[in-house]
Amino acid sequence: MKNVLNNEAYLGNLIQNQTGSLSYKDKTTIRKPETDWICHENAFDAIISPEVWDAVQEINRLAKFRSINNAAPQPHLFTGKLICADCKGQLLANRETQHRKNGDVRKYVSYFCGRYANSGRSACSRHGISEIKLKKLVMAEIKARAEALEFDETAVLDMLKKKDVSRRHPTSGRYPAGGRQAAPPYSGA
Ligand SMILES: [Zn+2]
Repeated sequence: MKNVLNNEAYLGNLIQNQTGSLSYKDKTTIRKPETDWICHENAFDAIISPEVWDAVQEINRLAKFRSINNAAPQPHLFTGKLICADCKGQLLANRETQHRKNGDVRKYVSYFCGRYANSGRSACSRHGISEIKLKKLVMAEIKARAEALEFDETAVLDMLKKKDVSRRHPTSGRYPAGGRQAAPPYSGA
């Protein structure tokens, strides 16, 4: 597809003299520099519009630029720490780019269900959340706990101690895998 979209013939322009031999002795085919090309504009009806053509060239240019500047992937803040509420699978981080009407381009990270990402709607729902929103939620939680601690330190420490004990295995004293307690069996209503 990329070659199709790089081929100016799809724009209705015919380009000649793109390739030639190395010299009259060496008949190895070489690709000639763009300056040697002979371009006949509108030689036949365009398959795609010049606007679409320009947009595709811009996308290709940016893709090339990105691969040159490809830095090692950065681990995301909440990777490995988020679990889908429905299927208990891990949430995956995804970099997204938002093109605004005023021309601004914003990049942000969001997380969504990994099972949904791999198997689609039959496996789970998207359950997407942006990193900005998550940061705000976590900050609010930290702030609330810090305030509670200031208000009544002993009560908070007691509460944390109790939580700590209840999370440990009754005999081994070890934390169970996952660290969460199973919900009590449903008793009916
Ligand atoms: Zn899920």
